[in-house]
Amino acid sequence: MIDLRSDTVTKPSQAMRKAMYEAEVGDDVYQEDSTTLELQEYCSNLFQKEASLFVSSGVMGNQLALRILTEPGDEIICEQNAHIFNYESGSASALSGIQLNPVTGIRGVMNPADVADAIRPKNAYYMPYTKVIAVENSHNRASGAVIPIENISALSNLAKENQLYFHIDGARIWNASIASGITLAEYASYADTISVCFSKGLGAPIGSLLLSTKEKIKKAFRIRKSWGGGMRQVGVLSAAALYALKNNINRLAEDHRRAKVIAECLADISSVEIDMTSIQTNIAIFSPKKLSVNAVIEECKVHGLLLSAGSSTSVRAITHLDISDSQVEKACSILQKVLI
Ligand SMILES: *Cc1c(COP(=O)(O)O)cnc(C)c1O
Repeated sequence: MIDLRSDTVTKPSQAMRKAMYEAEVGDDVYQEDSTTLELQEYCSNLFQKEASLFVSSGVMGNQLALRILTEPGDEIICEQNAHIFNYESGSASALSGIQLNPVTGIRGVMNPADVADAIRPKNAYYMPYTKVIAVENSHNRASGAVIPIENISALSNLAKENQLYFHIDGARIWNASIASGITLAEYASYADTISVCFSKGLGAPIGSLLLSTKEKIKKAFRIRKSWGGGMRQVGVLSAAALYALKNNINRLAEDHRRAKVIAECLADISSVEIDMTSIQTNIAIFSPKKLSVNAVIEECKVHGLLLSAGSSTSVRAITHLDISDSQVEKACSILQKVLI
């Protein structure tokens, strides 16, 4: 089976497993797990943030960020197709008592004027208080499109001018950085909080991280425990993340090249709609015009190719560490067989 459903399906390599096996561990709730402390320090340096916290998942990273930046009754501005709005089980309201105010973007990019419009007037006590502007980079539902640095800068400035916080959901910030050439530290410099995932393109089995100031991470440390996210000898997982950071970032360019090959093959099929300008990283989202989304997924599966639904009208193919050039070639011929 060629599995293009997600970049989360990768399995840890032998070398990564060796790093996990050999990891020094301690009780991380006592902050005595040396490998986790090393991971947090390594990432704080990499992103040039004061502090960071290893967490179990990207959802936990995002939701901890929203929690430490808000009070119940507050509001977050995010893009309509954002992960925090669509794929986090409504936990912003359930865990933090806040609501999300989605702004429609183009390829995940919010127009700063629309965001300015969505900010609640400060003197309106009967409205929610806007507290955070959140941006997702790269943008999952926008086919992995990279948010231009000018837009990030404009939205970050808008947040500052209005005394709001700026959060980046950087689950795939590595992909954005490799595609754009903008450093991780530059992206992070615009954000008060940034969450990143090791379990997507980087190929670690588990783990995400939240970065911010010392003071905010201290707050997040307490809330992580209260949400059941305090982990003990977690160095075995931090070792996988450290291995991934040191070995698997630059190779993301290969995943991007392979996603483009798949997208170009899809663009040549007349019954397929695909926005080639959005194919900038490792995700190719397309709309089949003859068959239903489910029919495409089922038919491809019969031929040995796994895909997932991007929405009710679109199909998603994602390249990753465990996909080779020959598998991409085979995937293309299966797509042609099914879609033509
Ligand atoms: C995957 C993802 C997350 C986090 O998901 P988890 O499954 O909780 O790790 C957050 N944001 C985006 C954009 C994602 O793609």
